[in-house]
Parts: sequence; structure tokens; C-alpha cells
Amino acid sequence: MAVQKRTSKNVLLDTALKNFYAAAEEMGLDDGLVEVMSRSERAICVSIPVPMDDGSVKVFEGYRVQHSTVLGPAKGGLRFHPEVNLEECEALASLMTWKCSLAGIPYGGGKGGIAVEPLELSPRERETMTRTFAARIAPVIGDWTDVPAPDVNTGGPEMVWIMDTISKLRGKLEPGVVTGKPISVWGSKGRNAATGLGVATCILELLKVLNEPVKGATVIVQGFGNVGTFCAKYMTDAGAKVVGISDITGGYYCADGIDIAAAMKHVAAHPKRILEGYTQPGLQKMDGEAILQQEALVLSPCALEGAINAKNADGIKAKYIVEGANGPITPEADVILDKKGILVVPDFLANSGGVIGSYFEWVQDLAGFFWTEEEYNNRLVPIMKDNFARVWDYAQKNNKKMRRAAFLVAIKRVADALQMKGFFL
Ligand code: NAD
Repeated sequence: MAVQKRTSKNVLLDTALKNFYAAAEEMGLDDGLVEVMSRSERAICVSIPVPMDDGSVKVFEGYRVQHSTVLGPAKGGLRFHPEVNLEECEALASLMTWKCSLAGIPYGGGKGGIAVEPLELSPRERETMTRTFAARIAPVIGDWTDVPAPDVNTGGPEMVWIMDTISKLRGKLEPGVVTGKPISVWGSKGRNAATGLGVATCILELLKVLNEPVKGATVIVQGFGNVGTFCAKYMTDAGAKVVGISDITGGYYCADGIDIAAAMKHVAAHPKRILEGYTQPGLQKMDGEAILQQEALVLSPCALEGAINAKNADGIKAKYIVEGANGPITPEADVILDKKGILVVPDFLANSGGVIGSYFEWVQDLAGFFWTEEEYNNRLVPIMKDNFARVWDYAQKNNKKMRRAAFLVAIKRVADALQMKGFFL
């Protein structure tokens, strides 16, 4: 019997399903496995009543989806955004399954969130909403079942409230129930820089396999937030020349290389944490689009999804693109870049330092024993190198683009485990 292919009106879920079916067909995956892997194991919707400061009561909708726990506890973020819905969570949960599988860590994929505009809540309303949400998803989350993390509009404070709520409900400390906690509350040293360090490691591995010298290699980094700054810093530390950076305030270009330490200092001192006003000898200010079109060996988009699209892809001059952000290249742009011969290292390989870092936090929480930042980085870098090599080798041997190779490697690991375990419960 042929596979009953699912479709969805939600674009994100529909795209995730189409990509999965195409890859499954390409690898000749068994129909039964395709049926199972194209569905989520569990999805729950909860209502979250919150007494508001003005005396009224508002009820928010919350979700948690576990796409797969075949490789281990579900892992994935919680986002607070007005457009959060069940289908979006399902799509993002499945992407987490593939990301964790590719990263080689013992996790499945999950995602969740609340449909809310968090800026409209007072601090007390935000905390009450988060704690009530935690209590209502408590039956399905836990250190060995499902481990949420921060995502859009959530961070350290939300993770602490969730950990504390679950701990109180269970009458014992539960530090491993969420990751992304501040260092003082069972968080981990090194996590802050982990994603950027992972992106930089992928760039360095790429240059190595292509016999491109690192010293003086020119790099442009789009986005100077958490991922972009540390990517730029580690590339500079390795001897490359970061000639361009950008953030919401525009692009900053210097043919002799940007002083990344000075730019980081400037951002840290700026009340809005932005590059506005940054200057150094020889620096040219340009708009955010123009910086993407400058000459460089490597371009690393570390800002937003869709940054490289059908409108600007043709003007890209970099030889290689390493995706730090999630989904920075649209499918149309991917085709254009491919025709131009630009090699792309995909997001779910290049930015997996973040989820590997979350795994390290969980490991430390379960052991109650904490590592130094040096130990953390010394464990992260070899894992990133191994993962890069696995995808690179597969792509070379099978004549695939790296994005498709990464997807096939990730799906195969889940399929193999599922086949060995069977479908019981
Ligand atoms: P962030 O908010 O810390 O930084 C985002 C940066 O992008 C800021 O400097 C912002 O000014 C800049 N930016 C926004 N719009 C821009 C534009 N139009 N042009 C140029 N710059 C622009 O976010 P982050 O944590 O660094 O995340 C960046 C991306 O990486 C997102 O896609 C995120 O999903 C992804 N990601 C982050 C992590 C992590 O651990 N932080 C892990 C995996 C993936």
C-alpha cells in the first residue's frame, strides 16, 4: 500500500512534510517507517488562565508537541508569540528531531509555546502565565521525557520559573527539566558562546577540506547578536579577517578587517546593544543589504530567516555560505546560489552548537557536577568537527548538496533506531 502523504494548510508544516517525504523517497525508506516518522508521537493543547493586573481574567492557548522520542527525551524550545499554533509547533518539533539526530546527541525533537504577545504582559502576568503553563504541561515534561529550552521571546527567567514550578509540584529539585538556565541556577558556563563557536568550527572545517588557508580568509557575518558576535570572534581568533559585520542598524565594512573585540565592547556598552556609532580607521558604513553583496570568501548569515532570498541571491559574491541563523536562505535563493556554484553549509548542521550546548547543561544537571568553560568548549569543538565530517563525507560519496546530505544522515539515524525498537507504545 502506498504511503498516505499528509499535507497541511500551515506553510511551515507543509514544507517540513514535503522535505521529509522527498528525502524518504530518495533513501527508499520503508512505507511503515515513513508513516510513523511523518507524524508526531504526542501533541497537547492547554488553556492557561491568568488573573490580569486590571482584575480581569485572560485565557491563553499553549502547546507542547513531541515529534519523536526514538533517540531520547524530546528536546526543543518554547516560544511566546501571537502566531504560535499547533501546526507550527509540529513542524518545528520535527526539525528538532532531525537536528538532534544529526548532532549525534541522545535526544528526540519537541517544540511548544504560547500564543501571546509577551510585550503586552506585566512582569507578574508573564511569570504567572509561564508557571501555569508549566503546571499544565507537567505530565509530559521531565528530564528523561521532554526537556524544553528558550526560543523566540523566552529566556533564562522563563526557564527558571518552569524548573521551579516542576520542582515544587514533584517535591524535589528538577534542574534537568529545562535547559537555557542562568549559570547561577543550574545553567552552564560556555552556553552563551556555544552556537557561534559551533558555526565558526564549521567554517574552519570547510576551509580545511577545501584546502583554503584560514590566515587572512575574508569573512562577512550578518547579525551581531548572540550567534554572530561569537562566530566573528572565533573566526578572528583563528586568524581569518572579518571584513564585514551588520545588525539592525546596517552594515559595517573594512577591507583591513573589523576589530571584533572593539565592536563587541561597543555593543556591550550601548544601551540598546547595537552597533550604531561604531567606528574604526577605514570603516565604511553601508546598508544591511549592501554588506551581503561585498567580496568575501565566506558569508555567514546569523540574523533572521529569509535574509538571502530570490531578490538578493544573485548579487552574493562569497564563495561559501555557512548558515548560523535558522532558515536564512529561502528555497528559491538556494536554487540561485547553487547555479552560481556557491557551496552552502546548512543551518541544522552549522548552528547545532546551541542544542549540543543544551545537552551539556542537562548532563551537568543530572550529574550535579559542573564543568569549566574550557572543558565545555573542548567537548563541543570535536563533536562539531565529527558532525561536519559525517555530512561532508556523505555529500562527497553520494554526490549530494550538503543540505540534502545532512537531512538524509539525520533521518537514517532515527529510522535505524525506530526499526530496532519497533513501534510498541
Ligand atoms: P539575537 O537576537 O541575539 O541577534 C540577532 C542579530 O541580528 C542582532 O544583532 C540584530 O540586530 C540582527 N538583525 C536583525 N535583523 C537584521 C537585518 N535585517 N540585517 C542584519 N542584521 C539584523 O539572536 P541570536 O540568538 O543570535 O539568533 C540569530 C539566529 O540564529 C536566529 O535565526 C536563531 O533562531 C538562530 N539560532 C540561535 C541559536 C542560539 O543559541 N542563540 C541557536 C540556533 C539557532
